[in-house]
Amino acid sequence: MQTQLYTFNEKRKRLDPTYTLCQFCLKDFSTEMSDNHFTNIYNEKDRTNIVVYRSVKFQKLMIGIPRCKNCKKIHHNSAIYGWLIGFVLAVGVVLLANYFFKYQFGYLMFFSIVGFIATFLLTPPIFVTIFSARQGIFSIMDGPERDPQIQELLHQGWTLNPPSA
Ligand SMILES: [Zn+2]
Repeated sequence: MQTQLYTFNEKRKRLDPTYTLCQFCLKDFSTEMSDNHFTNIYNEKDRTNIVVYRSVKFQKLMIGIPRCKNCKKIHHNSAIYGWLIGFVLAVGVVLLANYFFKYQFGYLMFFSIVGFIATFLLTPPIFVTIFSARQGIFSIMDGPERDPQIQELLHQGWTLNPPSA
């Protein structure tokens, strides 16, 4: 890992990127640290590839991905629209369940509750990705693993998901 691309933020225990090319549009540049997207990375195999910074070892680390103001705004808006659409669709599933299983209370409750939760959890990420793609940028889920610095860490055995117990 090329540590000169980051500075360690002692207070927040995270790596602040010093490179500024926005990794979501690959066009603009990050102008403020608070616009960058921060994500946790985890070390699965607690041996050779732990990031050592000033003799502190990390198995979980917050790391920044440069993001421009415009991409931050698009991510913010697409999250709101994504959740709104997810909610509307989830209500639609409940109405459909009511239409088909009006007189079968067990089915009605089952499809209402399971359908609502599943729809509400599954649809927002899909729409978040669609909205970002329509604006020509990577979504907040896809951007991190495309960052060359993050890719380097992933090759060294780090992961963007918490290791399963
Ligand atoms: Zn951008």
